[in-house]
Amino acid sequence: MADDGMALRVEALEMILVEKGYVDPAALEKIITTYEHDVGPRNGARVVARSWTDPAYRERLRADATAAIAELGYGGRQGEHMVALENTPEQHHVVVCTLCSCYPWPVLGLPPTWYKSAAYRSRVVLDPRSVLADFGVTLPASTRVTVHDSTAEVRYLVVPMRPAGTEHLDEDALAALVTRDSMIGCGLL
Ligand code: FE
Repeated sequence: MADDGMALRVEALEMILVEKGYVDPAALEKIITTYEHDVGPRNGARVVARSWTDPAYRERLRADATAAIAELGYGGRQGEHMVALENTPEQHHVVVCTLCSCYPWPVLGLPPTWYKSAAYRSRVVLDPRSVLADFGVTLPASTRVTVHDSTAEVRYLVVPMRPAGTEHLDEDALAALVTRDSMIGCGLL
């Protein structure tokens, strides 16, 4: 279905829910505004930077990402069951939701349009390397690429590799380097 069709359907559904009294439009607006403006990929970037600089935090993130992310104050809707996926020279992780658009809101905000597109959702499963190439990412043949399908139960945060030559940077400066796409696995940084 085209995105326009989807937007109209969502609008129609919202109208019906509001009319029938199931949904408070002010509350709905508040949720959308919060995730559009207050919660965004900077949260995830802070988690990544902390894991790069604090080995004990990195261990906690591996063991229980939901709890480790909550330590930094991020949690709630769509982030109840987080799993952190660490990229290494041997292993690159990419995240998709093949069914719809499940996404870790508390750490990345709202998903980008391409994440919700049918093209991304189908192609990344069949041929992740060609999708990565579209994002300007070329990995060595020796790097294994694994695609993870988000569900209502599990949301993923990809932890990109810390770039070489950043030993002198502090956590804030490191966080500033981390992009949203890299935390979905569609960018190196
Ligand atoms: Fe989904």
